[in-house]
Amino acid sequence: MQSADVVVIGAGVIGASVAYHLATQGCANVLVMDRESRPGQGSTGKATGGFRAQFGSAVNVRLALLSREKLRRFQDELGIDPGYRPYGYLFLARHQATLDALLAAQAIQKAAGLHEAECVTQDDIRRINPAVNADGLLGGVFCRTDGFLRPPAILRGYMEGAERLGVRFTYGEPCIGFEMEGDRITGVLAPSGKIAAGCVVNAAGAWAALVANYAHTELPVSPLRRQVAITQPSDLLPETMPMTVFAEDGFHLRVRDGRILLLWPDQPAVADPFDTTVDDAWLEEVTRRALARVPPPRRGDN
Ligand SMILES: Cc1cc2nc3c(=O)[nH]c(=O)nc-3n(C[C@H](O)[C@H](O)[C@H](O)COP(=O)(O)OP(=O)(O)OC[C@H]3O[C@@H](n4cnc5c(N)ncnc54)[C@H](O)[C@@H]3O)c2cc1C
Repeated sequence: MQSADVVVIGAGVIGASVAYHLATQGCANVLVMDRESRPGQGSTGKATGGFRAQFGSAVNVRLALLSREKLRRFQDELGIDPGYRPYGYLFLARHQATLDALLAAQAIQKAAGLHEAECVTQDDIRRINPAVNADGLLGGVFCRTDGFLRPPAILRGYMEGAERLGVRFTYGEPCIGFEMEGDRITGVLAPSGKIAAGCVVNAAGAWAALVANYAHTELPVSPLRRQVAITQPSDLLPETMPMTVFAEDGFHLRVRDGRILLLWPDQPAVADPFDTTVDDAWLEEVTRRALARVPPPRRGDN
């Protein structure tokens, strides 16, 4: 029977980070298990890679500033470039109420230490992201130290760092239940058998509530379906373009590896949030929004 002082359920960026940081604190008898055949097959491998400190609550701003320090140290600590590129985050407002809300959030950000966040006019928007159709925009906010990172690189950095310190990873191994003594977990049940566990970390991301259910515990984690449309290779927009967010409906876009990523956080009416069927109506709508807001140059335009 396998055993570990700590069993981490989930080999996404959080599970790998927890395992690495436990090991740096001297707890190296750690086993990370994932149901998929390789790491990063949950949200981590699908993320857009946006990084920002422009949030609306002080605690989120402070956490993001700590993350930013970690990103800047990451390569020295773990030997892998986490891909932090401060190309900025540009939030755009069409209506006064939206702009007021962005500016109220900015006051919180500055008080929490994000001094470089700035308010921008329509002319600034045209300068910061010339591809945007700025007609009808009232203004917005911009922070040049926000930008991008590479979740798979961060995952790899933490995994390799953890493995160097003795942490084990196992794949194709779902947690399907727990062995309990009273309300204490003593083992994790998997198809290959029981893993005796000193303690367990639930790092199953969007599936965390399902895992907690095996221990008869309710976790207030509910998955939200998020969709991203990735274009064919395109040189229409530069890689250095800031993440550009239309604050009214959350439509946003960036360029990664020569493709444009389009996102619109509309929650489709699906009964099962884990359903990954392609949503043609969403695709059509996100494309329509992209063409209106970031119109491709017409033939003959410079
Ligand atoms: C389309 C999209 C875009 C996003 N964009 C951004 C962004 O721009 N910026 C940002 O900061 N965040 C973004 N996110 C969110 C970000 O990806 C997540 O917050 C982050 O990856 C969560 O990491 P995690 O390790 O908690 O979860 P995950 O990476 O989902 O890892 C959970 C792991 O648990 C495993 N697991 C589940 N159930 C079990 C079980 N029973 N037994 C064993 N293993 C199990 C899964 O296989 C998975 O590998 C985005 C997410 C999506 C989906």
